[in-house]
Amino acid sequence: MDPLLFFSSNSPLQKVFLPEISEAELQLFIKRDDLLHPGISGNKWRKLKYNIINLKTSDKDGIITLGGAFSNHLHAVAVAGDHFGFHTIGIVRGEKPASLSGTLRLCEELGMKLYYFSRTEYRKKLLSREIIDLVNFHPNFLYIPEGGENELAKKGCEEILTDLDFQPDFVCVPCGTGTTLGGMLNAEKLRSKIIGFPVLKGAEKSIILNIESGLRSEELKKSYSLVSGYHFGGYAKYNAELLNFILQFEKLTQIPLEQVYTGKMMYGIIDLAKKGFFKKGSKILAIHTGGMQGRLP
Ligand SMILES: *Cc1c(COP(=O)(O)O)cnc(C)c1O
Repeated sequence: MDPLLFFSSNSPLQKVFLPEISEAELQLFIKRDDLLHPGISGNKWRKLKYNIINLKTSDKDGIITLGGAFSNHLHAVAVAGDHFGFHTIGIVRGEKPASLSGTLRLCEELGMKLYYFSRTEYRKKLLSREIIDLVNFHPNFLYIPEGGENELAKKGCEEILTDLDFQPDFVCVPCGTGTTLGGMLNAEKLRSKIIGFPVLKGAEKSIILNIESGLRSEELKKSYSLVSGYHFGGYAKYNAELLNFILQFEKLTQIPLEQVYTGKMMYGIIDLAKKGFFKKGSKILAIHTGGMQGRLP
């Protein structure tokens, strides 16, 4: 399929009804980016959009990129390579495990060539000599940093809110690197406050740096804030309370969540609603950033 056509679709908006939300006299809407595509989903669809459109008009053969063993980004790149017919190389953080994670197994099945680098050789953003050599050894591959973080990715994320037909008071989004939040903030003409929920422990400083390094205007710094305290112990960590919350939410709304990103954000939204964080009468828009391939079975 032509990437221009593929990436011309948009996701539906859905209103959800939950007791905690109506008790707090709020309205909650969810932007279902998880429905954009089953494999290239959520914010990874947004981030890959212009990278893949560019790739198809360039003379490059494929994409080389990085991620962890459960990375939604690696998975989305592998699916995209299979779908659009280009080669993919994944540089995986960590030694090759005795048994592959579901994500990595899928990546391999989709034809992604995987290389493993132990944690000491692999540092986020600070690439080791070995990884730089591997990337340089594939000059005909488009290099995309971990998490899909580049300028074209931000451009794709700017479009999440562009065709919204109502004015939310708050827009909520989970944060890994903050690229998605930064992109939305840059596009913001809606006077909403954007609330980011970091899913990593102690990551606020680097998230803020990432968000604010590319901002269109200083003014926008006042239009967002990060709410810490909903990381459940750190990246990909979870407990029974979070898993129970997800099951309950899914039962009431028929909207699936996962425990790494969207479950933590939604737990945070409901908890903040109960605590009176949102002014009565507010409209809240939560971005479902996808990631369902990583949901615990
Ligand atoms: C990658 C990912 C994120 C994090 O996005 P950032 O732009 O790095 O903040 C959030 N949600 C899901 C489902 C993801 O896969």
